[in-house]
Amino acid sequence: MIQQYSGIQAYILRIRRRLHQIPEIGLNLPKTASFIQRELEALQIPYVLSERDSGIMAVIKGDYPGKTVAFRADMDALQLEEENTVDYCSLHKGYMHACGHDAHMAMLLGTARLLMTWRHSMHGTVRLIFQPGEETARGAALAIQDGFVDRVDAIFGLHIGTLFGKEIPCGQFVAARGCCMASYDHFILKVKGKSCHGSNPEKGIDPIQIAAHMILALQTIQTRELSGTTASVITVGKVTGGFEYNVIPDEVLIEGTTRALNEEVRVYLAERIRQIAEATAQTFGGTCETKILWGAPPVVNDLRMARLAADAIAELLGEEKVSMEMEAPCMAGEDFANYLGRVPGAFLYLSSSNPRKGTDRPHHSSGFNIDEEVLWEGAAAFDRIARKMLQR
Ligand SMILES: [Zn+2]
Ligand SMILES: [Zn+2]
Repeated sequence: MIQQYSGIQAYILRIRRRLHQIPEIGLNLPKTASFIQRELEALQIPYVLSERDSGIMAVIKGDYPGKTVAFRADMDALQLEEENTVDYCSLHKGYMHACGHDAHMAMLLGTARLLMTWRHSMHGTVRLIFQPGEETARGAALAIQDGFVDRVDAIFGLHIGTLFGKEIPCGQFVAARGCCMASYDHFILKVKGKSCHGSNPEKGIDPIQIAAHMILALQTIQTRELSGTTASVITVGKVTGGFEYNVIPDEVLIEGTTRALNEEVRVYLAERIRQIAEATAQTFGGTCETKILWGAPPVVNDLRMARLAADAIAELLGEEKVSMEMEAPCMAGEDFANYLGRVPGAFLYLSSSNPRKGTDRPHHSSGFNIDEEVLWEGAAAFDRIARKMLQR
């Protein structure tokens, strides 16, 4: 660790562990939000609150006019029982910070502390956006509606963990050129048949049988309609229907997610799911109601901003610690994409994958954890990016 950051590292680690103990999900995170507010007050940083959710925008204004740069941390956790046995385990039973958002908030507070040390020579303004509801893909869109990125010249976000590949060495950054993560959308198919006794199927219409055909047919969108090199994912993750082994029910509910790396494929998947589902239901005498809950578009970095971030990190840690290449984009999604649709910026990745410490587990698993040694790097990287943009 670079000596000058040892104080920040200790601060971030303490904050991260406290946030890890109070995971909350969704858009309303009262304990998390008041914790962040208290820390901002202690640092004497003014902030505004969202009127509809737990979003917070802190503002650090330099002494001179200039550009506005935003940094964003997501705040929400997951509904998951923590398996880790560390002494800072979740105190909220059934909830867990299993995606590293506790670390994101702590690192952003670390950035805030670093920024405060040079704000008298800062030309411009930094906004620190604490955003709830990332996992549900709602938070970023609401933060935009709240005006948090109005008149912002550039925005940066970061994800810690194993997201871009657990083989990427711990402490290494990726500032990808172009697309680095997929879109994520949610489809719901309500398949309707007609209930009857299982012994006389000819008297009803079997939605379970229709659903089975549908689930298989949906997979042919990828294998028969899109080229072999077009990245996409269609996953059915939930099927609900029936209540008795010898009764044909009225209805089956199918839910799934789609992923794509561009808008055209994203819309195509949704359209074809709707057509195939409705036509399949009709073929067998049933009906299907399709609902597409649009999530977030693919995460596409602005090349100039990705390069600026990579340069800042290289100056901080050395060229070998940051790469602008990735083997393939990650098919997970991030609602940070919504900001990038409005403001040029970049979404960075910081690996905390360390097999020796068992922090190479996948995100959203009950044993997920991070190698805390890298926390200072995230805060220092944001600070360096801000300096590059706002210091003369
Ligand atoms: Zn997540
Ligand atoms: Zn996440």
